[in-house]
Amino acid sequence: MTLLKLGIIGAPLTHTLSPLLHGHLLQGLNLSGEYKKYELSSDQLGKGLETFSKQGLRGLNVTIPHKVAVMNLMDWLSPEAQLAGAVNTVVFEQDGAYKRGHNTDIQGFIQGLPPLFVERLPESHILVLGAGGSARAVMTGLIQLKTAGITVAIRNPARAISLLGNAETIKQTYKADTRILTLPLGALSSLADFNGVINTTPVGMWPDIQQSPLSLAQLETLRPEALVYDLIYRPTETDLLQTAKRLGLPTVNGLEMLIRQGITSFELWQEKPVPDTLMAQVRRELASALEERNAQQG
Ligand code: NAP
Repeated sequence: MTLLKLGIIGAPLTHTLSPLLHGHLLQGLNLSGEYKKYELSSDQLGKGLETFSKQGLRGLNVTIPHKVAVMNLMDWLSPEAQLAGAVNTVVFEQDGAYKRGHNTDIQGFIQGLPPLFVERLPESHILVLGAGGSARAVMTGLIQLKTAGITVAIRNPARAISLLGNAETIKQTYKADTRILTLPLGALSSLADFNGVINTTPVGMWPDIQQSPLSLAQLETLRPEALVYDLIYRPTETDLLQTAKRLGLPTVNGLEMLIRQGITSFELWQEKPVPDTLMAQVRRELASALEERNAQQG
């Protein structure tokens, strides 16, 4: 049986649960394979991909900070990857000579949203923190779901131009009239206008668990029904989510998105659907692994 060689590229990769997720999928489907972590800096990205092409890899997940930069290294991009301007899944074909870039974060994000929140999006104004690869997927998902307005709070203003350009194409594709605004992260004060906040920055991610992208004073200005969603899943409850919970706000972490995007990546590599029963089993395994890690870290 040929070994299914898979992995994840990014930096840092200390937080990632993807090896565990894909390990369970390989085992659950009785496949002989491996899923390895490849920590690559931005300078090493091009060379790294070339090497993987020659090593018989079938696929890679791409995470922080390479989702945008890796696009230029692909031979083909899926319509979703082109729309979002970000790739989180690479499929190697023709013995590594041909690289397809996909984005499974968009559907992973959509599938992980609470149904009531989705229902209200056409009347909602959502604040997105960050403007990297996952912010682009989140923005694409929100536009696809016909969200009334999105404000993207950005650390680096240079990112705003390409983000707004992308947003126009996404709006045309989905025939949505979402109003898109950008503003510097530092200029955020009251959040009273927002029906939800989505953190796509790594602020608060393990091991820097004391950090939060929003202060208590800012969170206190949110409406009581506003959803606070953190794409981070390690820790399970970031400082941002803990504070929001204490204030009685509904919260969601990134675990469901991780599972959904990961399963879709796996289906692209395997060209076969993953059974729902296995997804449920993987969800239980990951939740308990996270609990264990949280307990170990005190
Ligand atoms: P990325 O492409 O590097 O983007 C990160 C964004 O956050 C950039 O806009 C960056 O600003 C901003 N940022 C970084 N540090 C910041 C700080 N200290 N203060 C303010 N803004 C800061 O990374 P990504 O791939 O989007 O991933 C971001 C996070 O989402 C990670 O924690 C990742 O684990 C999580 N994620 C989770 C899932 C899931 O399935 N649950 C999926 C994707 C991502 P600049 O533009 O100035 O660099």
